[in-house]
Amino acid sequence: MIIADEKLGFKVTVELLNQFTEREIEKIKNAVSFLVKTYTSNKFLMYVLNYKYVVTKYRWEGLRKVYWKEVFYGFWESEGQTQLEIYNNILSGREELSPELDNEADIFLKVDRTYNAGSLAYTYKSNKTIYIYEYTLKNKTSNFIAGTLLHEYCHKVGYGHNSGKRKRHTVPYAIGDGLRKF
Ligand SMILES: [Zn+2]
Repeated sequence: MIIADEKLGFKVTVELLNQFTEREIEKIKNAVSFLVKTYTSNKFLMYVLNYKYVVTKYRWEGLRKVYWKEVFYGFWESEGQTQLEIYNNILSGREELSPELDNEADIFLKVDRTYNAGSLAYTYKSNKTIYIYEYTLKNKTSNFIAGTLLHEYCHKVGYGHNSGKRKRHTVPYAIGDGLRKF
C-alpha cells in the first residue's frame, strides 16, 4: 500500500512494507498530509532560514567560573551547507540510495512490533527502509509521527547526528522536532 500527498510540487510517498492496522494507516495518512502541508509552508521555511540556538560557555578566571552566552546561527554539523541549501536538499527528494531529483520523498516503512526501549524509529545507511515502532504509532499523534518520519528521512538524504549535547540542533532533530511544533 502506498500513501501519498503533494503540495507545491513536493510529494511524499510512504510505501508500507509489512502489515499495518487500519488505525495505523489512518495515522500515517494524517502524518503525511501534515508533513507536506507544513514543510511547504512559508512559516516552516522561515523557521529553517532563521534557526539559531544559544550555548552557555565558561572559562576559569583564577578560582572563579565566568559564564557567557553565544548565539549560533544555523544547524549544528550541517556539512557546510546554508540553511536554504538544506531546506531545498530535503525538498529535492534526492535520497542517498536513489539520487535522482524527483521532488519526491520516498519513504519505505516497516512497523517494528518489538519493545521500543525508548526509541521512536530507526533506519540503516545500507538500505531504504525506515522502521517505526508500534509504540510510536499507538501513542503519538499524527503531527508527532510526521516529525519522526521527517527525522528519519533526513538520514536518507544524508544528514546524521551523534548523541552529543548539541544533537537537538542537528538537521534531523531541528527539522523533525521543528515540524511538530507547527
Ligand atoms: Zn536520528
